[in-house]
Amino acid sequence: MDIGRRSVLKMSVVAGLGLMAPPLGLMRAWATPGRDGMAGTKTDAEWKAVTDGEWKTRLTREQYDVLRREATERPFSNAYHHSKTPGAYHCAGCDLKLFSSDTKYDSRTGWPSFWEPVSSDVVGTKTDFKLIYPRTEVHCARCVGHLGHIFKDGPPPTGLRYCINSAALSFHPA
Ligand code: FE
Repeated sequence: MDIGRRSVLKMSVVAGLGLMAPPLGLMRAWATPGRDGMAGTKTDAEWKAVTDGEWKTRLTREQYDVLRREATERPFSNAYHHSKTPGAYHCAGCDLKLFSSDTKYDSRTGWPSFWEPVSSDVVGTKTDFKLIYPRTEVHCARCVGHLGHIFKDGPPPTGLRYCINSAALSFHPA
């Protein structure tokens, strides 16, 4: 418990220093790639209350841009679009298990694509009007990190394509 409190305090101090450091973009130290978000250290409510400053210390720049700013990574050059390795794909923000390799398929879009999440309650959706036409945005139900979008051109049995950014995922081999 003490260690947990100290970590929180340390992160608050780091976040505070980040706010004081001018200019922000040049002074910020981003997390190293591959960090899984320290699963199990927060309750669901605490995950939703993580501040923007703390996300900046927990995530890599690319993870932050996708998960917290709804950026879309480039197709075909991302980590998991072509992977067929058996295992589970977790949220890169809070480590919640989101997708299984069993429901991954090659959509030829250049992004990891799944026809179903591991359970309907691990993701949430909202309508996104960033492009001319409305799209269904999909995010992690626990930390509300942006994952990608859902389209209705997927394979059976759902007919859905969960088009997910690799940067929003962390892969756990089976
Ligand atoms: Fe999450």
